[in-house]
Amino acid sequence: SSGSDENDVIVIGGGPGGYVAAIKAAQLGLKTTCIEKRGALGGTCLNVGCIPSKALLHSSHMYHEAKHSFASHGVKLSSVEVDLPAMMAQKDKAVGNLTKGIEGLFKKNKVTYVKGYGKFLSPSEVSVDTPEGGNTVVKGKNIIIATGSDVKGLPGITIDEKRIVSSTGALALTEVPKKLVVIGAGYIGLEMGSVWGRLGSEVTVVEFAADIVPTMDGEVRKQFQRSLEKQKMKFMLKTKVVSVDTAGNGVKLTLEPAAGGDQTTLEADVVLVSAGRVPFTAGLGLDKIGVETDKAGRILVNHQFGTNVPGVYAIGDVIPGPMLAHKAEEDGVACVEYIAGKEGHVDYDMVPGVVYTHPEVASVGKTEEQVKALGVDYRVGKFPFLANSRAKAIDDAEGVVKIIAEKETDRILGVHIMSPNAGELIHEAVLALHYGASSEDIARTCHAHPTMSEALKEAAMATYDKPIHI
Ligand code: FAD
Repeated sequence: SSGSDENDVIVIGGGPGGYVAAIKAAQLGLKTTCIEKRGALGGTCLNVGCIPSKALLHSSHMYHEAKHSFASHGVKLSSVEVDLPAMMAQKDKAVGNLTKGIEGLFKKNKVTYVKGYGKFLSPSEVSVDTPEGGNTVVKGKNIIIATGSDVKGLPGITIDEKRIVSSTGALALTEVPKKLVVIGAGYIGLEMGSVWGRLGSEVTVVEFAADIVPTMDGEVRKQFQRSLEKQKMKFMLKTKVVSVDTAGNGVKLTLEPAAGGDQTTLEADVVLVSAGRVPFTAGLGLDKIGVETDKAGRILVNHQFGTNVPGVYAIGDVIPGPMLAHKAEEDGVACVEYIAGKEGHVDYDMVPGVVYTHPEVASVGKTEEQVKALGVDYRVGKFPFLANSRAKAIDDAEGVVKIIAEKETDRILGVHIMSPNAGELIHEAVLALHYGASSEDIARTCHAHPTMSEALKEAAMATYDKPIHI
């Protein structure tokens, strides 16, 4: 059994943080075991997060384009229909192939994969309850906690994954709901709202705060909200959900202004609760070995990802920082590099964030509000996709690039892009930030024509000088 010989590294959790850490550890020559309870590798991201949501976003976008845009491009279809089971099957196939792919990578890199629920017995021993009802003890010099996160519930609302769903249920509905109410205007709610809106649902997003996606640059957020409204998504901001009643056929929500006031009601066929995510450490036995957490339940770590217990580390959604798959992966690599006696580094200020709606919104670095709050003198350069030839050529020109640079040095502080494929375009900006580039550096870099990327170059020109095409 895997318990007989000691590991250099044990990773608890096989999500993007855990599986990447395990592969990297093995590549560095460390004997490594990864424990995962789900029965499949890839964690939240691959099984019920990033990947299935992007599959459905793509499929629903194709349907929406076929129905509403093909004709203007001279492509005539006599009828367009949604085949939801086929759409779900394509999503499931993508997920299945990718999770199996990670198992293959484990084999290739000689990572031992133990299926089951891991619990600490001591800082160097993990007991695993296997799916078959057995138990095995895995021993290791270093243990990395990569147990991720779970859906945050709301008081008084019971998620049944049928009529009241979390993102997991929203990725697997068996019919298109007539009316979908989304509680929470974060990126997950807006992405899932977009999927079902495109497939025909009337979507209303209820949000307690005054704004959608609070981390977004304010100016870009306003344009983004207008774009979603044009797509018929309705927003009820500064609104609190008081109760949810499932006694009848549908669901009846009782709402109240966030500041207090008269109650109203709202009907829905399906309600998506997407009010955030919380670190997941249930049943792990953190108390038993004395690992410290903060008030939100996140495991506290130092810059080498070490907890207060020597030999025990934590990475990904279970520690403070952006709750994103690529951040979890970076954590995993750096943590293992420290364990191997090397250096590692993750700069949380340069983690890109993407909302995969249409258009997408992608950003890296600081928002204008943050720069203002820091009291830094800055310049802003903007370029609309309406003036970008490629976007015009394909008739998909909604959006803008906004660059914020320090006034004195021209060093780029933040870049915000709303456009089709913004999630791909942003990486030029991520690299620029990492290299401490100025807006002039981007402006003087030759960009291929005609591409959407030229909008970034023109926005850079607008930051320190003048753009050409507007
Ligand atoms: P997780 O992926 O949560 O993995 C943790 C794993 O540990 C789980 O598989 C769990 O079963 C296992 N585990 C927990 N406890 C134990 C235990 N005691 N024993 C054994 N195994 C255990 N992020 C992006 O960057 N881009 C996106 O587009 C994106 N889209 C998303 C869409 C949705 C709908 C959701 C819900 C999330 C999305 N995310 C996205 C967030 C992303 O999924 C997470 O940030 C990422 O999965 C975190 O990785 P992790 O490895 O820290 O944890």
